[in-house]
Amino acid sequence: MAKTNLKGMTVEELQDFIVSLGEPPYRARQIFRWIYKGVTDFEKMTDLPRTLVEKLKELSYIDKIGIYKKFQSRKDATVKYLFLLSDNNIIESVKMEHSYGVSVCVSSQVGCAMGCAFCASTIDGLKRSLNSGEMVDQILVIQEDIKKRISHVVIMGSGEPLLNYDELIKFLNIINSPLAFNISYRRITVSTCGIVPEIRRLADEGLPITLSVSLHAPEDDLRDKLVPVNRRYPILELLDACKYYIIKTNRRITFEYALISDVNDSKECAVKLARLLKGLLCHVNLIPLNPVRERDFMRSKPENIRLFQEILRHYGISVTVRQEMGADIEAACGQLRRSIMNEVKR
Ligand code: SF4
Repeated sequence: MAKTNLKGMTVEELQDFIVSLGEPPYRARQIFRWIYKGVTDFEKMTDLPRTLVEKLKELSYIDKIGIYKKFQSRKDATVKYLFLLSDNNIIESVKMEHSYGVSVCVSSQVGCAMGCAFCASTIDGLKRSLNSGEMVDQILVIQEDIKKRISHVVIMGSGEPLLNYDELIKFLNIINSPLAFNISYRRITVSTCGIVPEIRRLADEGLPITLSVSLHAPEDDLRDKLVPVNRRYPILELLDACKYYIIKTNRRITFEYALISDVNDSKECAVKLARLLKGLLCHVNLIPLNPVRERDFMRSKPENIRLFQEILRHYGISVTVRQEMGADIEAACGQLRRSIMNEVKR
């Protein structure tokens, strides 16, 4: 019989498993604690009776991803991690240090099917979705590596998290659990390119997490090209779902807007964006584009970024320009992973 992987189960799921072994439910909480302290060997779970340890060894295991390589920025404390999965796929995560704590940007899928025009993660398509254990491990292994508590999590690495919905919800449940990482939902951001039905579904969960929407264009014609999912869920439908999210969670939405020279950084685009978002409880995050080798797009000039920001401010939109971190270690989405996968293949 195939063994069951206990990493990535919620406490409730682990409890069902433990009860099915004829053990009292409270044992699940003990095991859950050990797993998210990083223990993978049942022999080291010193408060479990010998009979249970033997049963667990026979029927289950605790998976753990390994660090394949890491790259430390020379400019700041940003570290990019490449993790090797049990099926030899590679994913990337980024650790960043801020005045308010340590954040990790987590991947939710190997590659991505969404085809955003400026993103390296999607060039080879989607390989597979990650399970909740592989998502949690990105936090666990980095925390062990840096020996500091991770306080903030953004699910903004490779993949569209809302297309890996059930595993995403389990992941959020585990990292929020006081028995595991105890990371407040308010310090967790889920980023989507705009999967409308799943935004509504997430709103109905009633979790106070921040939703970050990759907008990148103020009108459908342009967004169709930059974020192809827009052909399925156009801007007005997307904004309707965002309004629903705000009503349900009372949380401000962040709109991501990567500024690409001569594509979406004109004054007209800024004015259209401001009119589109007027009155919405939101914040706009302008991102100086990290150019991707395989794509032609260029980053906007600093003066155009400033002007774009001023126009949004003038219309009363809350806006900041994303602080660049780790640009010297190919921090653009998916870029480093692709170069390493090519190296591995060679
Ligand atoms: S930006 Fe995000 S959703 Fe779009 S292709 Fe890249 S990883 Fe996928």
